[in-house]
Amino acid sequence: TSQQRIILVTGANKGIGFEVVKKLAKESSLTNTTILLGSRDLKRGQDALARLDCPKNVCVLHLDVTSLESILAAIDEIKCKHGGRLDVVINNAAIGDLEFTIDAARKMFSTNYYGMKTLNEHLLPFIRENGRVINVASACGPIVLHEASKDLQDKYSSSTLNLEQLDCIVEDFISAVGTNTVGELGYNPKTLYLIYSVTKAAVICLTRIEAREWFDTKNILVFSVCPGLCATDMTNNAPDGSPAEVGADSILHLVNTDQSRLENGCFYRAGQQLPQI
Ligand code: NDP
Repeated sequence: TSQQRIILVTGANKGIGFEVVKKLAKESSLTNTTILLGSRDLKRGQDALARLDCPKNVCVLHLDVTSLESILAAIDEIKCKHGGRLDVVINNAAIGDLEFTIDAARKMFSTNYYGMKTLNEHLLPFIRENGRVINVASACGPIVLHEASKDLQDKYSSSTLNLEQLDCIVEDFISAVGTNTVGELGYNPKTLYLIYSVTKAAVICLTRIEAREWFDTKNILVFSVCPGLCATDMTNNAPDGSPAEVGADSILHLVNTDQSRLENGCFYRAGQQLPQI
């Protein structure tokens, strides 16, 4: 029916995304809401659904954000099986890799940045008016910019930055990783997890641009969020924070808080707005 709410969470077969689906399934069990558990591997998605005891309001959606073919197939499925309308998209899928090579950079950007950007572009026509898009970033994005040159900070924080210019910033960085010249571009080569952190700085900028461009046309709100440090496979389960409480709650705050108490395009953690540099 037209009252049906649809929420998509990418990379939800484990970690923080899984906990977000679990909480959403519980809190919306009495409403007409369907949660799409995105998984790039169908079997891992089905196993995750089984771990939730197969609630009626959760469906697995096969989706690899790095594959255009997979994105288009997922959209077909949303159209055929779920009414073709999305209320909330939670872009959680990402990879983290410590290697400092151009191949590692290309791979991380293709998932964390280009995957998110391409998926959002293709989903936009199906997102309902007043819908929300939540892009999962990390506080290490602002940290990497804080340690960068003033020139580079100005580029990232420009209020007129557009998608083409952001892609150029990203491509310059990836090339500089290959030639070992990131310092010349104004990054601090000693920043921890430099490549991963730059993918997340780019996500925060992407969010600002999407928010600016999509609000006027469809009143769509777009936020970036740091889920906080949590024990998941990505962090070798080392931090104390739990993906259920720390990570999922940071994200759910942006799903559930009234529009009047949020600022479109901004970056949040645990319900608080954080600076972008
Ligand atoms: P995990 O590694 O536990 O989970 C990542 C999820 O993303 C998995 O489901 C993985 O699928 C999926 N994924 C990876 N690549 C793709 C792809 N191409 N298409 C679709 N799905 C994909 O990480 P976390 O749960 O820790 O991280 C969730 C988000 O939170 C990420 O954006 C991360 O950067 C961010 N974050 C995490 C922090 C933490 O402390 N954990 C801190 C700050 C930010 P598969 O199982 O198939 O690999």
